[in-house]
Amino acid sequence: MTKRFRVFATCDIGESIEVLRKRGYDVEVYPKPEAPPKSLIVEKVKSGVDGLITTLRDPIDAEIFEAGKGTLKVIAQIAVGFDNINRADANRYKIPFTHTANVLTEATAEFAFFMMGALARKMWTAEHLTRENQWGYWHPYLPFLGDEVTGKTVAVIGTGRIGLAMIKKCAGLDMNILCYDPAYQNHEYVKAIQETMDLRHERRICQDKTWIRYVTLDEALSQGDFVSVHVPLLREGESSTPTYHLFNERTLRRMKATAFLVNTSRGPVVEEAALAKALRENWIAGAALDVYEKEPLPKNSPLRDPAIEDRCRLYPHVASAGRITRLSTDPDKGMAGRTVQGVIDVLEGNYGGDVTKMPYVVNKEAFGK
Ligand code: NAD
Repeated sequence: MTKRFRVFATCDIGESIEVLRKRGYDVEVYPKPEAPPKSLIVEKVKSGVDGLITTLRDPIDAEIFEAGKGTLKVIAQIAVGFDNINRADANRYKIPFTHTANVLTEATAEFAFFMMGALARKMWTAEHLTRENQWGYWHPYLPFLGDEVTGKTVAVIGTGRIGLAMIKKCAGLDMNILCYDPAYQNHEYVKAIQETMDLRHERRICQDKTWIRYVTLDEALSQGDFVSVHVPLLREGESSTPTYHLFNERTLRRMKATAFLVNTSRGPVVEEAALAKALRENWIAGAALDVYEKEPLPKNSPLRDPAIEDRCRLYPHVASAGRITRLSTDPDKGMAGRTVQGVIDVLEGNYGGDVTKMPYVVNKEAFGK
């Protein structure tokens, strides 16, 4: 490497930073656990860094790209979602940005899967009861009963990478599966899942016959015992199928009164005021959330209402937070490893310097002929 590349990371991403340093990069890491102010990112970019490592907490838009005009060459985001990065601005300034698709798929899907069980079987309430010494006897139905997940019907909203992984896990729990995705349908995968379901039934691994099929949104909402959301955040104008407030008063009312909502996608996909109302007024049986309209969840959020506490599980955006998934330096295993590989690919001109061939670059459209 002839040039000593400079990189600013808005967050510590562990050992992977050393991978860059060992290659001779000059890397500065923002030392605090919370996100730096935007003004600091602008200042660092203005100082002439070649690469910027970002998290989903950093707003990346024209102001940043303008500050890096002539010097900034790559933004590497440690996340698969990139709704914090203004893609049109990145394209206008011709700055490639990378993300960490695939390596977090299984970890995120398994967390959604566990959220479903924790919610329906009231695991949080059950543990509180034990810890607070309220467990006085074994009784057939007191102090409460939960709802089984096995054998129920799950509606998977969004059948991209994480949605398909969720389907695979739910099939293992003998669930029926409703799939909804207006932009991408993987019929091959659905067919293969149906074949495994049929085989499990034939070989008496699974007592009841189970099924999977693509349906409309209305069918998914009205027939699912669980509705699990796996869509990107797409605002009006960003897609022909926007997902902003996809779950609102109208769509929540379409769900069964016994159904549970699970959201590991992005907070603004669910209108929280409407969800809190749905829980208070028992339009649905419960919800488990990992992501919020505003993060961290504000103190005065209606989701904190003690009246819905037993039906509303709240997690701090940790669905992908598995040790290997988050920090492995191996780009085929870890988000951190994939992030630095994205930086290296662009700055060192891998793939013959052809950005459209670099696997982790998102906005390839800005670089085609
Ligand atoms: P993906 O792009 O592979 O899949 C998303 C799917 O959603 C696509 O198939 C797309 O066609 C579909 N979709 C788009 N608009 C839709 C709509 N209106 N209704 C239904 N489906 C629609 O992405 P992925 O890798 O599966 O990740 C999905 C999202 O999950 C990410 O964008 C990210 O925001 C979120 N995520 C959250 C965490 C977490 O820690 N909570 C971790 C990883 C990913």
